[in-house]
Amino acid sequence: MNPPAAIPSAPAAAAPPPAAFADLHLHTLFSDGTFTPEELAGHGARVGLAAMALTDHDTVEGCPRMAEACRVLGIEFVAGAELTAELDGTEIHILGYFLELENPKLQTELKKFQTVRQNRIHEMVARLNRVNIPLRAESVFALANCRSPGRPHVGRALVQAGFCSSLDEAFDRFLKKNRPAWVPKCKISAREAIALIHQAGGLAVMAHPGLNRTDDVIPIMAEQGLDGLECFHSKHTPAMSEYYMEMAGRLKLLITGGSDCHGYSKGKPLIGGVKLPGVYFQRLKERHQTQTAATPPQP
Ligand code: AMP
Ligand code: FE
Ligand code: FE
Ligand code: ZN
Repeated sequence: MNPPAAIPSAPAAAAPPPAAFADLHLHTLFSDGTFTPEELAGHGARVGLAAMALTDHDTVEGCPRMAEACRVLGIEFVAGAELTAELDGTEIHILGYFLELENPKLQTELKKFQTVRQNRIHEMVARLNRVNIPLRAESVFALANCRSPGRPHVGRALVQAGFCSSLDEAFDRFLKKNRPAWVPKCKISAREAIALIHQAGGLAVMAHPGLNRTDDVIPIMAEQGLDGLECFHSKHTPAMSEYYMEMAGRLKLLITGGSDCHGYSKGKPLIGGVKLPGVYFQRLKERHQTQTAATPPQP
């Protein structure tokens, strides 16, 4: 008897593509993070990120190195920055994505913001000296070693010099709003920040809305041309993320997310804690492509 003819096996079902995640809010030591771009990209690979955006405060200097480090690791890279803006007395952080790094106006404005930051370090140190904390500005600049220094560098210098035992203590005692060394930052309006990002070929996204005291500013910024809302963030609870996703849908804003990792600035690095599902990153890219196609090249 002949053995029964083998039943041809059904073709194997195509394996679903691996889940692709992005982290679109990251800092390096070009601002107040502690990782080099290469270290940051390495951590991204370790936690399985398919795409990363660098969003240092008021600088894009880390982007070329980060782009190369990501290329080597097969990670998609987006050049960005985090700008400080103001609307109705509220400080707002606006993320710019897909920025043209050599854009002249962007370069000019970032330089101005950096000068303001450097002057502010001198003012914060002067205020500390007035309350008998003899910190020297030179020690803050030496520690920061970047053109875009900020309060975390002053905090770390206070810890390093033994005036505070932790960064939290430095913020709580001296650096938080209305504490003795707090110096308001000169901010551009949200409208100006959005326009600056757009003229540099980028998309503008409001960072960590859950850290603000008011949501009233969001519809106003949507009117002003804001492209997206950072619904996923290390300091957002799942309920907050849901809430902002609903708001983004209502205001026709793109949904983004990121860890806001500053390296070892405050304990364990946050990278890997927030993973934006690839579908949202895809929509962001598509919007950028549409916008680029619609905008004639600047002379
Ligand atoms: P600045 O841009 O100089 O006003 O500093 C703002 C940055 O300080 C934020 O981006 C955070 O990285 C950091 N920051 C704010 N509050 C705290 C805090 N309580 N402890 C540690 N870092 C903080
Ligand atoms: Fe920061
Ligand atoms: Fe921020
Ligand atoms: Zn940030």
